[in-house]
Amino acid sequence: MSLAPSSTVVLHHRFATELPELALAWQAEEAPDPRLLVLNEPLAAELGLDPDSLRSPDGLALLVGTRVPEAATPVAQVYAGHQFGGFNPRLGDGRALLLGELVDTGGSTRDLHLKGSGRTPLARGGDGLAAVGPMLREYVVSEAMHALGIPTTRALAVLATGRDVRRETVLPGAVLARVASSHLRVGSFQYARGVDGDPGADLLRRLADHAIARHHPGAARAEHPHRALFEAVVAAQASLVAQWMLVGFVHGVMNTDNMTISGETIDYGPCAFLDAFDPGTVFSSIDEAGRYAYLNQPVVAEWNLARLAEAMLPLLAEDQEQAVALAVESLGGFRPAYTAAWTAGMRAKLGLADDLDEETGTALFNDLLALMQAGHVDHTSCYRHLASAARGDTEPARGLFLDLAAYDAWAARWLALRPDADAMDRVNPVYVPRNHLVEEALAAGTRGDLAPLHQLLEVLAAPYDERPGLERYAAPAPVDFGVYRTFCGT
Ligand code: AMP
Ligand code: MG
Repeated sequence: MSLAPSSTVVLHHRFATELPELALAWQAEEAPDPRLLVLNEPLAAELGLDPDSLRSPDGLALLVGTRVPEAATPVAQVYAGHQFGGFNPRLGDGRALLLGELVDTGGSTRDLHLKGSGRTPLARGGDGLAAVGPMLREYVVSEAMHALGIPTTRALAVLATGRDVRRETVLPGAVLARVASSHLRVGSFQYARGVDGDPGADLLRRLADHAIARHHPGAARAEHPHRALFEAVVAAQASLVAQWMLVGFVHGVMNTDNMTISGETIDYGPCAFLDAFDPGTVFSSIDEAGRYAYLNQPVVAEWNLARLAEAMLPLLAEDQEQAVALAVESLGGFRPAYTAAWTAGMRAKLGLADDLDEETGTALFNDLLALMQAGHVDHTSCYRHLASAARGDTEPARGLFLDLAAYDAWAARWLALRPDADAMDRVNPVYVPRNHLVEEALAAGTRGDLAPLHQLLEVLAAPYDERPGLERYAAPAPVDFGVYRTFCGT
């Protein structure tokens, strides 16, 4: 018989205690009939939580936030943010709660956070709720990202609440229990700067020191810790966005409140993976101008980091002009770091040696992408077919392209560099959360049939490992799937 998590789980409240200006103590709304739809047992084990006790009524109550350990202080986090370029000085968790921090079995501090747990004082017009489909979507895509080796928040569980949610239709409600190395965002710094206003202000400094302690402890030993923190965030985001680009991930809503200080991917709303390679791809129905299109992601990340630099200016130097100069210099690290990460990633995707000449590499990569775009080539399967071509089986890759003469000329240049096919298969996934498969699993899950979801999760947990019988998960969407659109904030 396992003990009740609400009495045994130790939840710290360091964020709430150190940064009370960013934390509103709040409680989850009652869930009439909480039912577990999916539980991440390996993650639970990593967190030192017993899966059986999480499945108990007391465990379910913890996972929807209605029964928390006595010493816990659940809070809604306050932050600001640029949303599609427009600044909102006070956003925050409108339908989420930070239950507290757990120390995992490896000794790392992780946030335990709920999404869809009811209205908070920051809900603005929203109902504070979430529907089963979008919460399962975050579960599937964030766990797929983790299996791909890309830094991300994790999904611990999705529970149906038994409460209806009104969207365009009435949908079953859900809560997602999410785990992150923290929920500090660029928007957290923007809010702290707005509250403080004056240089030398205390909240901004405490926030920066909290971020250093949690994410970039090396910065504490630097000559200028706050500048080192900023540079660490620049480096982490450059690396993260390069990984998105290499795997064909489109985040879809890269507002500054959806960009972490840790360098983890966060807030899986309208995100999706590329099918046919097209740099202009936009999935989100509300992103009419294509601000967050696939190809714009590195530039948007840099823009967001410039907003972080602005927020941190009082910490960089007392003299404003000097602070700006330092910020500009540190932000200048983004482009070289991004390019280095992307180039190294492309080299690996094409199975080429580390010492490949830079000019040769850049031309080879850009020429391939241009051919892929012209031929509407499926992004994910292309690299696996190229690995087969490197083994001598040339037709599957060749068959993807429209301009065969151009492809043959490109392939001759590439094969002359003797690509390592096995190395390619270790970095190019066979299985990603393809839009049609995700939609199919969510539609079934919303109807109460969780079998397709579990099958999809199992496939995506080992994305590099090609397995017989799973061809359908590796194949592009059927033609009649049409143009894919995703929706935000649901
Ligand atoms: P997102 O685009 O998902 O990052 O959400 C932007 C902001 O809107 C966040 O502060 C959310 O907490 C808030 N929000 C989204 N949906 C709802 C909802 N149904 N009720 C209350 N707040 C919401
Ligand atoms: Mg968000």
